Amino acid sequence: MKEIILVKLGEIVLKGLNRRSFEDILLKNIRRRIGSFGKFDVTERQSTIAVVPHEGADLDGAEERIAKIFGIATYSRACETQKEIGAICSCTADYLRRELLGVKSFKVECKRSDKKFPLNSPQICAEVGRFLLKQFPNLHVDVIEPEYTVRVEVRDFAAYVHGNARRGAGGIPVGTGGRAAVLISGGIDSPVAAWMMARRGVELTAVHFASPPYTSERAEQKAADLLRRVGEYAGHMTMFTVPFAKIQEEIKEKCPEDLFTIIMRRFMMRASEQIAHREGCEALITGESLGQVASQTLQAIVCTDESARMPVFRPLIGMDKVEIIDYARRIDTYDLSILPYEDCCTVFTPRHPRTRPALKFVEVAEEALDVDALVSDCVERAKITKIEPNR
Ligand code: ATP
Ligand code: MG
Repeated sequence: MKEIILVKLGEIVLKGLNRRSFEDILLKNIRRRIGSFGKFDVTERQSTIAVVPHEGADLDGAEERIAKIFGIATYSRACETQKEIGAICSCTADYLRRELLGVKSFKVECKRSDKKFPLNSPQICAEVGRFLLKQFPNLHVDVIEPEYTVRVEVRDFAAYVHGNARRGAGGIPVGTGGRAAVLISGGIDSPVAAWMMARRGVELTAVHFASPPYTSERAEQKAADLLRRVGEYAGHMTMFTVPFAKIQEEIKEKCPEDLFTIIMRRFMMRASEQIAHREGCEALITGESLGQVASQTLQAIVCTDESARMPVFRPLIGMDKVEIIDYARRIDTYDLSILPYEDCCTVFTPRHPRTRPALKFVEVAEEALDVDALVSDCVERAKITKIEPNR
């Protein structure tokens, strides 16, 4: 018995004239992500991609990866059989036996991309249905609300049989939506924000601010670990670790305490923007959510935004923390995020940060600093790490 994986495209099918290039990028992403599990043929026909393993390739491993590739609506394991109706019938009974024994109602759906096959789709459905009714006395046909759907696909070189499909990661393929730099902390929010933008096709570059000696090596390691998890969906990326202590010390020394946080955040935006430019990014991404903390009030965000010319995307802006945590669990970043390594944001935090900073006071306060030199200096000293996704 030979098994393959059939992949159904998601929103790509809506993309009109761009569809071909979206599909090409998805095929490339699939090939790249499953490549370490052996040799596979990955081909597309009529909005379905067939992933066919060569001898010795690990299909379970490939399936796990496919579950995390954006642009895929559903996928299913399928059994390959000869293009002959008798073979197709017995394949459905053998391959789907356990599932069919566990339900009462079923229907058969058929897709025939090989128009030369002697039976048309309704005829194939009728033949297979009749055969299964004989084989499984527990079953009756229900075409409106079946408990189980048997699917038959007659393609160029073989026919395939499968059951209910699994839900894929959705979204659109990474690499179809430009590139943006995500500001990644060690927290819960920013990995989710990164994942959400990757799900809309965006390739990621990551910027992390670290404040040794105030923060430990482990805080930086944690951000890298989080990115590796996000990378299981978003693919490989480059992480820039920016040394931030000097800037924080300067702000603490020369600016009013209640403006420390907002000024620090403006420096984060400026440094990230420089890196983003160099790396060919067109936007920044943060994990901010309106009103979550003092630096995320509407006024604080407006004040932060003013320091960057690039658009800043905040995909979590309207979400509650519980919703963000649900996503973090779903993408398996939550457990890592709650490890207690201190983030650079906790260094010198004022007791009473201003929640409604006025831009003009912030600008006056920043006059005490050599903003451009501080930004260029930290960007120059950024450490570059290549992030390869987890297995
Ligand atoms: P998170 O869970 O993402 O850390 P948070 O609720 O702790 O979010 P803040 O600390 O105010 O919020 O940070 C808001 C956003 O600023 C983060 O989502 C992230 O995009 C960015 N950010 C915060 N700290 C850092 C850091 N050390 N390096 C890079 N970006 C950061
Ligand atoms: Mg944080």
